[in-house]
Amino acid sequence: MLNYAIIAEYYCPSLDYMVGWTTVLEYAVVSAGLASRAREARQGKEAGATGAMRYLFGPVPSRRLGLSLGVDLVPAKTCSLDCVYCECGKTTRLTVKRDAYTPAEEVIAELDAFLDKRPALDHVTFSGAGEPTLNRDLGRIAVHVKTAHPGYRVALLTNSTLLSDPETRKQAMEAHVVCASLDAVDETVFRAVNRPHPRLSARAVVEGLLAFREEYAGELAIEVFLVPGLNDTPGETARLAEALRAIRPSRVQLNTLDRPGTEPRVTPVSRKRLLEIAEELGGVEILGPAAVRAVRAEEADAGEQVLNMLRRRPMTAEDVARVLGVSETEAQGKLDALGRVNRIVTARQPRGVFYRAVDPDPKGPRPR
Ligand code: SF4
Repeated sequence: MLNYAIIAEYYCPSLDYMVGWTTVLEYAVVSAGLASRAREARQGKEAGATGAMRYLFGPVPSRRLGLSLGVDLVPAKTCSLDCVYCECGKTTRLTVKRDAYTPAEEVIAELDAFLDKRPALDHVTFSGAGEPTLNRDLGRIAVHVKTAHPGYRVALLTNSTLLSDPETRKQAMEAHVVCASLDAVDETVFRAVNRPHPRLSARAVVEGLLAFREEYAGELAIEVFLVPGLNDTPGETARLAEALRAIRPSRVQLNTLDRPGTEPRVTPVSRKRLLEIAEELGGVEILGPAAVRAVRAEEADAGEQVLNMLRRRPMTAEDVARVLGVSETEAQGKLDALGRVNRIVTARQPRGVFYRAVDPDPKGPRPR
């Protein structure tokens, strides 16, 4: 009897995953409801993403949170880690200093403008291409969303490194859902996988998570991102299992490379090894293909929205099609148009061709 679940809202990618019929049927029922909501959005009853946004992105399909409006609380690649698998590129500002990296009033004003339209969302998520807990106003902004827009759940994606700080824990507790990362327990493995700020240690990260679990009554999911040869060894997975038993999160999720990472040498863990580790850890989920829901963007905003998404994470034409609620051909057309004006680059991966946004070359052709 397998004791893990598969998150795969759209399809079961392979029979290797052995998804039971019950799961498939439950999924079909849920999907029907989501499709109905998406149709309503397309009919204009609910608003999707429109206009230029500085701190918000999406809504994007999140593998963990369904349809999620992302909120960037730090400039891109301001982070306490420089993970070898990071999908957002190399960390350019490696720091553990909490600061007002983005002005809280501006973030709140942008959130209000967007959420006042009552868009169809599952979560407002503090995430982005950096570590959101570095923003010292995280708690204040989360409280604002909960009080001014009580219909939405607040989620926080964190790399866990600052949870050893009581004030950071207090602010993180404002989220309904906290998705925290724990990739390593051994210090050498931690340095190899996460390339942390010199003041950080794996031991402090585990202690921070233990303290947070003691204080936080909400939903705590812990994600372990597996990198072959680094943290998928029997010794490290045993240490991870022990730490996870002590932390007692609501859920444990295993992940591995799905998009191009920072280091080209990093590859995904094989499905066989992923399943072995899932069995070893017990009761964990394996993150499947992005849970997706169609939100049709206004035509005039689609190009900018595609770029906005691709600035944060590489996506295939299929991914883009699902987010925009358009055909893959239409999505490919938009990507081709962006490619012609040098706004995106491509990388071939096992899952297909991924597109990533690039800053325009000031000497190159001007985007239209
Ligand atoms: S994966 Fe997350 S924690 Fe790691 S470097 Fe990228 S943004 Fe930072």
